Amino acid sequence: MGYNVAIDGPAGAGKSTIAKLVAKEKGYIYVDTGAMYRGLAIHFLNRGIDPEDREAVAEACRDAEVTIGYEDGVQQIYLNGENVTSMLRAEETGNMASKTSAIPEVREKLLELQRSLAREKDVIMDGRDIGTNILPNADVKIYLTASVETRARRRYDELQEKGEDCSLEEISRDIRERDERDMTREIAPLKKADDAVLVDSSDMTIQQVVDEICRYCR
Ligand code: C5P
Repeated sequence: MGYNVAIDGPAGAGKSTIAKLVAKEKGYIYVDTGAMYRGLAIHFLNRGIDPEDREAVAEACRDAEVTIGYEDGVQQIYLNGENVTSMLRAEETGNMASKTSAIPEVREKLLELQRSLAREKDVIMDGRDIGTNILPNADVKIYLTASVETRARRRYDELQEKGEDCSLEEISRDIRERDERDMTREIAPLKKADDAVLVDSSDMTIQQVVDEICRYCR
């Protein structure tokens, strides 16, 4: 069994930024499970599947194979052998992933891939249900959150920097909707594990959050 750090929390809390830095400092492999849901979402988008049509989504899962690899230490996602990493961050991919991640067949499909990585390697794995469901015996569990306002502002600044047109209001609404979907779904909803450490990054710098999490890790 590898040494396992689980980091869960809502959209935009900074999990991937923080987890990458902790991984570097501690020599763990960073596993982004959201990217796996996004990889499957591309399959559904390619097929023109309606995310509300649970049967069609479940059916389409049967001929999707999501695998993971690393290039220069950076996680790559393959969908039926094709590297789809550059397509993962598009808004429509995120929305499709958010909607379809509530469907049991989708979660089932990715569960073993996530557990097998943690068995073999020292990992810091980020997601929504890692501490509660995927790795209930993780060595360290972190629940990383921040206020909706902070998360929306960070996302807004990030998009502005990329020169993308966006509205703070729309981003806030999107974040609230994602929170609602992630926290209220029947299967593996987002919630803090009883034994997870709560870290609220609203008034912390990236380095402060990294330092705090590293203190709990081997
Ligand atoms: O974290 P990220 O935004 O990339 O995740 C995309 C979507 O996948 C999320 O909106 C969430 O609904 C879903 N997800 C999940 N469980 C995980 C990781 C992501 O349900 N472990």
